[in-house]
Amino acid sequence: MPTLFSKIITREIPASIVYQDDLVTAFKDINPVAPVHILIVPNIEIASTNDVLPEHEKMLGHLFTVAKQVAQEQGVAESGYRLIVNNGSDSGQEVAHLHVHLIGGRNLGPLVQTRE
Ligand code: AMP
Repeated sequence: MPTLFSKIITREIPASIVYQDDLVTAFKDINPVAPVHILIVPNIEIASTNDVLPEHEKMLGHLFTVAKQVAQEQGVAESGYRLIVNNGSDSGQEVAHLHVHLIGGRNLGPLVQTRE
């Protein structure tokens, strides 16, 4: 069963795709938390960082090069942005397809909530 993000990658589900190549796809988050909120995902299904293998290293390095390019194109490279990868329930991961949130366009405040 393909993940939600696989269906976006194959255009089965509509999304605002801002970048795509053979290895990764970047698209606008449907529920943005800041003026810029892009998800960058591997085209192959990796459920979470717990499932990353040595054979993924080249693709994941490329994903960061794409993150840099998308940040430039979205106009936040100089003002700053945050890359977030959630893993598992305590992080609030909702979609079991590894993804990097690229968030920017405003002051993002503290890294995490400081109280429980
Ligand atoms: P996470 O909580 O790290 O798993 O993040 C999942 C993200 O996917 C959330 O920020 C959602 O808003 C986003 N999302 C869910 N469905 C879609 C969709 N159809 N298109 C774009 N983003 C989505």
